Amino acid sequence: MTPVVHTLRERLLGLIAQNGPMTVAQYMAAALYDPLGGYYARRAMLGADGDFITAPDISQMFGELVGLWCAQSWMDMGRPAPFQLVELGPGSGALMSDIRRATRKAPGFCEAAQIVLVEFSAPLRERQQAALGDSATWAARLEDVADGPAIVVGNEFLDCLPIRQFVRAPDGWRERLVGAGDNGALVFGLALAPLADDALIPEPLRDAPEGAVAEIAPALPAFVAQLAARLRAHGGRALFIDYGTPATTAGDSLQAVRAHAKVDPLDAPGAADLTAHVDFATLAQISRAAGLDVAGPVAQGVWLRALGIDARAQALVQARPDKDATIARQHARLTAPDEMGELFQVICLSGPGLPPPAGFDS
Ligand code: SAH
Repeated sequence: MTPVVHTLRERLLGLIAQNGPMTVAQYMAAALYDPLGGYYARRAMLGADGDFITAPDISQMFGELVGLWCAQSWMDMGRPAPFQLVELGPGSGALMSDIRRATRKAPGFCEAAQIVLVEFSAPLRERQQAALGDSATWAARLEDVADGPAIVVGNEFLDCLPIRQFVRAPDGWRERLVGAGDNGALVFGLALAPLADDALIPEPLRDAPEGAVAEIAPALPAFVAQLAARLRAHGGRALFIDYGTPATTAGDSLQAVRAHAKVDPLDAPGAADLTAHVDFATLAQISRAAGLDVAGPVAQGVWLRALGIDARAQALVQARPDKDATIARQHARLTAPDEMGELFQVICLSGPGLPPPAGFDS
């Protein structure tokens, strides 16, 4: 007898039939991380011929500048040896490869760096292994990385944290839920009752007008607490780059991307990447409360310029004049305000006693 294989959508419908509608966070966690049908467990297609392309895969300039930033941070930290160089959600491995290449000229850095890649996805681990070989080790969670001073980087990592959504109704805030519609479809709906109190809603949004959508990332406080405990005990700093807003703003930012196009987030769970904008104001606030020093957020374009992307692009063009147009295009994609330059924000979270990090002055 052939075993009945249920798609993730069918299994979610089964859960909904049993327990009632689920939160957007529960849906997002299943669509991304379900061991059998989740996007990162199964598909995880990054790059030009995959579902989405990220800054490190657009141009080597991105990872090189992040590498210089890491080297500067390591010097700021007093050149600890060894130290943990941790990347959260390394995707194709391109960022860490470029960091390594760019830091070869920083005496002592590569010898001292113990590279740890924190990766959930088995197919992506394989890809990272092919890119980095024996120079890295892998961990499932930040908690599993050995103690000691650390530099942590995460590009498009925090946008994977599942979010809950709330909609302002006439009688208060109601949670947006995922339930069963007609013909086996998943549909959005609202909780039958409004929230008993507004404490869950980010403070700046509590009086938002009817129809406004508020989002929270329930796992963020525990993640920051974990990072803060580490950076405070052993020293170091973390750099996060993601799309999001410097201030807490209302709006539905849940998005599903497949083959470089936006698709309906409920259409085929596990077949598309699901992300949400990072609320950098809340991240900064939680991090300060956890005892970290916060620099930024600043726009990615501003940060890359402060670190010297214009000069780096010029040097690349000098080496390869035939690539002039390509390099100009890559530079614009990373920095232009109407491309990634403003939509993406950069924030630095530091343990105590470090000087201001590079790139955040303006
Ligand atoms: N940083 C890469 C990839 C971004 S995609 C780049 O910029 O190209 C998100 C990455 O985070 C993927 O590698 C994904 O598998 C990983 N990821 C998502 N959630 C994770 C989690 N909870 N723990 C570990 N890795 C995770």
